[in-house]
Amino acid sequence: MVFRSLRWQLQVWHALLLVVVLAGFGATACQLQRASRFREIDRELDSAGLEILRFIRENDPARGRPPGPPPRRPRTGPGRESAGRAPIWYVAWGRDGLELDRTADAPADVKPPAASIDGSQRRSVHRTRGQFREASFTTPPGEVVVVGRSIEADLADFSRFAVGLTAAGLAVLAAALAIGAWLAGRAMRPLQQIGASARRIAAGSHSDRIETAGLPEELASLATVLNEGFAQIEETLVRQRQFTADASHELRTPVSVVLAQTQAALARPRQEAEYRNALEACQRSAQRMRRLVESLLTLARLESGEEPLHLQPVDLNQLAAESTEAVQPLALGAGLVLRFESSASPVPVRVDPDRLGQVLLNLLGNAVAYNRPGGSITVSAGTSGAEAFVRVSDTGIGIAPEHLPRLFERFYRVDDSRSNPRGHTGLGLAISQQILLQHGGRITVESEPGQGSVFTAWLNRSAA
Ligand code: ADP
Repeated sequence: MVFRSLRWQLQVWHALLLVVVLAGFGATACQLQRASRFREIDRELDSAGLEILRFIRENDPARGRPPGPPPRRPRTGPGRESAGRAPIWYVAWGRDGLELDRTADAPADVKPPAASIDGSQRRSVHRTRGQFREASFTTPPGEVVVVGRSIEADLADFSRFAVGLTAAGLAVLAAALAIGAWLAGRAMRPLQQIGASARRIAAGSHSDRIETAGLPEELASLATVLNEGFAQIEETLVRQRQFTADASHELRTPVSVVLAQTQAALARPRQEAEYRNALEACQRSAQRMRRLVESLLTLARLESGEEPLHLQPVDLNQLAAESTEAVQPLALGAGLVLRFESSASPVPVRVDPDRLGQVLLNLLGNAVAYNRPGGSITVSAGTSGAEAFVRVSDTGIGIAPEHLPRLFERFYRVDDSRSNPRGHTGLGLAISQQILLQHGGRITVESEPGQGSVFTAWLNRSAA
């Protein structure tokens, strides 16, 4: 919807802001103009008023002067019609409230201001009454004079000024909106480019990236974050594809063996021993497939979090001793020396002992499988800072540094020839890592080709 577009929202806010600013500016300008003109008029009325007051004082019988006929107009001010200005009129009232004098053009409805009748008012008081601006004065004895003039022309001037200002404001608004629309369009263009690139990548060009060169700084960092996300998605997709290919490959070998064995056995009548051999080969392949499928299932359950941990306090030292004990026959069979170096004190951890036992059996199984004739394996447990660890060191074939970063990936094998030792599916380390991650732990490896490897499982230490 167009009103949900960022560009339109920017435009609307921009327009509203402009209208408020321009209206505020216009209203203030009108107000100032009006106040300044009124001040000018008031000054004009004040000076005329003072003249009239002087005139009244000079002709006041109460002050001992003969009551001659009052001049109808003072010398200046009232009645004067200077260029472009309205004539000034006045009306004077005596102390008794009776009208003393008035110019002919004074409006009939002028009345003395209520407050000035009591003579308490010293200074002029200004007011606007319809089309007139008036100033009223009170003499100390109590005469009241109202001086005024028409402000019709001034009000018309104000209206013209306001109309002119509104027209100018509308022109500025239109220009600012046009510039705003152009700027918003320009600002949105990189976002549209980012959107187009993202759509292209989502549609299948997974190796494409958003071009960050030339983007404004804020958008460049957004594009970089998106690119990192796309790289991760691509990596995940590649890994998934690789995983599917690897899993299929792993299963294809035993299936091929079963097919080849059965075909050969069924090709012609055979001796009982030959059938037995064929069936045994099929059994081995089936067992291999079962191990593979079980490992894959375990991994899938661990990754999806379906398999809950049954955590309990465990002495890691004792668990390591038991696992070593369990692998001892295998090590002896392979002609290896398997040693357990017990820690001085218990190593308390809170783990699922079955799962952690599986990790230790994986590590020990590898240490046997990838050892050299007459080699040795050492198992130890202990603590380091807030962590507890169990370590399996072997004197085996070792692992070249370039393989170490990928060692815990599913199906990753160092030699890449699929002739791995029996029972080894290429998933052992991936499962071990997943189990340790589930426990909030980690697994590390140090290795030197020809010298041996050290695998360490790290866990959070718990209170003894
Ligand atoms: P696998 O089931 O093949 O042993 P793992 O995930 O347990 O799979 O191990 C992955 C690969 O890491 C192995 O194929 C092997 O090449 C290498 N590896 C694991 N443990 C050791 C070790 N102790 N010494 C040398 N190489 C090892």
